[in-house]
Amino acid sequence: MAYKRVLLKLSGEALMGDATYGIDPAVVQRIAQEIATVVQEGFQVAIVVGGGNIFRGIKGAAAGMERATADYVGMIATVMNAITLQDALEQLKVPTRVQTAIAMQEVAEPYIRRRAIRHLEKGRVVIFGSGTGNPFFTTDTTAALRAAEINADVVFKATKVDGVYDSDPKLNPQARRFTTLNYNYVLNHELGVMDSTAIALCKDNNIPIVVFDLFGEGNIRRAVQGENIGTTVGGSCEVS
Ligand code: UDP
Repeated sequence: MAYKRVLLKLSGEALMGDATYGIDPAVVQRIAQEIATVVQEGFQVAIVVGGGNIFRGIKGAAAGMERATADYVGMIATVMNAITLQDALEQLKVPTRVQTAIAMQEVAEPYIRRRAIRHLEKGRVVIFGSGTGNPFFTTDTTAALRAAEINADVVFKATKVDGVYDSDPKLNPQARRFTTLNYNYVLNHELGVMDSTAIALCKDNNIPIVVFDLFGEGNIRRAVQGENIGTTVGGSCEVS
C-alpha cells in the first residue's frame, strides 16, 4: 500500500557524502533527484533535515559551551542544510518552501502548521528547518512531531544502513534484518532507530517509521510505494 503523505527525515550527515564535515553538492543533487521523482508522481513530501554535518549541540556542550546555546547553533545549522536542499530541488523545478521554527524571515517562512499542509496539498515540498525550535531536542524528534502535526502517513528514516538488525552485521555475518518491529521492542532494547522521544511520539500517534538505505538508487520511490525495503517500526517483530 502506497503512502500519500510522507515525512522524510534526512540527517545532516547524509548530505556530507564521504567528507567529514559540511555539504557535498553532488550528494544533495542526487537526493533531490530521488525526491523530485516521487513528487512528480503525486506523492506529498515533507522533509526534516538535521544539522550534524555542521554542528551538534551535545558536542558543543562537551567542549565547554552552555548546552542550550550550543543547541541553538545546531538548530541554525539545520537551516543551512534546508536552504541547500531547497536550491537543489528548485533547480529540478520542484516547488518548495522552507519553514523554520526559529524566525528568519529573510531566508524562510515561519513554521505555520496549516500553511505547511496547504503547501503539501498544492504539491510543494516543505522542508522544516530549526528542528522543534527548542534546545534539548533532536531533529528525529522534530520529524515525529511534524509528522503528527501534518497528519503524515509515515516517517521515513533514511540512513546509511538498510534497516535494523538483531546484531551488528559488520561484526556478525549471521545477523538478521528485522522486516518489522514494534515500538516497545525498539524502546526496551534501545535499538537506536531514532531517539526514544521520537519513537514514543510515533507510538502515541500510530505513525509507522520506515528505516531504509537512502543511497540505494530508487529507494525513496520504492519506499513511498509501500515496498518494505528496510525495517518498518509499527507492527510485530519479524526478521527477514
Ligand atoms: N537541535 C535542537 N532542537 C531541535 C532539533 C535540533 O536543539 O529540536 C539541535 C541539537 O543541538 C542537534 C542539532 O540541532 O544536535 C542538529 O540536529 P541533529 O543532531 O538532530 O541532526 P542530525 O543528527 O539529524 O544530523
